Amino acid sequence: MLTFDLHDTTAVVTGGSSGIGLATARLFLRAGAAVALCGRDEARLQAAQRQLLEEFPQARLLAHACDVLQREQVEGFARRVEERFGGADVLVNNAGQGRVSTFADTSDEAWTEELRLKFFSLVYPTRAFLPLLQRSGKAAVVCVNSLLALQPEAHMVATSAARAGTQNLIRSMATEFAPLGIRVNSILIGLVESGQWQRRFEAREDKSVGWAQWTAALAARKGIQLGRLGKPEEAAQAIFFLGTPLSSYTTGGHVDVSGGLARHI
Ligand code: NDP
Repeated sequence: MLTFDLHDTTAVVTGGSSGIGLATARLFLRAGAAVALCGRDEARLQAAQRQLLEEFPQARLLAHACDVLQREQVEGFARRVEERFGGADVLVNNAGQGRVSTFADTSDEAWTEELRLKFFSLVYPTRAFLPLLQRSGKAAVVCVNSLLALQPEAHMVATSAARAGTQNLIRSMATEFAPLGIRVNSILIGLVESGQWQRRFEAREDKSVGWAQWTAALAARKGIQLGRLGKPEEAAQAIFFLGTPLSSYTTGGHVDVSGGLARHI
């Protein structure tokens, strides 16, 4: 099991109440960091908090309801983190979800919504936490992005285009923030078992098919070379690497977490 002493670190995870974000919060807590997480649904957030406090009774943990697309709510979250922990060293921009739609069936409203989600879920938290990160001396921003940024899928046309755009934005932020002592990187994930896939599994047509069989068939259909979906913990480990001094000489880069789904070199 990966461990690392982060008692002097505060990590902020957007979308920390489920899936990859929750696994990331767990990893930082295990290493002794203070963790602040947000999500929109209060009940889900409270459940995540209870679960983490059960696992880490001594945890320095803040769970704050906040929609990353509401600028004032994000600013309020940053103020609470500062009041509670005095600053922030790591920002994990993770909140979000994908959109399944082809060019033919994506309306103007759907395009606007998707572009707004993908861009502003990075812009608002990064802007709000920037003053805190600047004071850190070891700051890192890690953005959870998708392999779709480099390898688009026609059935997720708007998400793919938006992911390519944000990958470009992430590179520019790395350039602008390097003199401020802030590293900026991303992970590019393929298919990771979490809320999104759980929801699609629950909506499957043939209810006699179980989770293991359904995900194995999905991995085969997609051509995932490792033959399975990724675990949220596997994405979290890459986030942890990019968020901590383990990657102190890496900025403007990305780590592939796609199980060999990526076809480019
Ligand atoms: P989950 O659905 O398990 O978790 C998503 C988290 O984000 C939840 O905590 C959710 O809480 C939160 N969230 C969503 N929208 C907002 C919002 N507007 N403001 C604040 N919080 C929000 O999904 P994953 O763990 O799979 O997803 C994590 C990230 O990885 C997402 O950005 C997703 O698009 C990306 N990704 C995932 C892939 C996968 O295969 N799993 C593939 C490619 C990318 P709540 O709903 O209560 O707000």
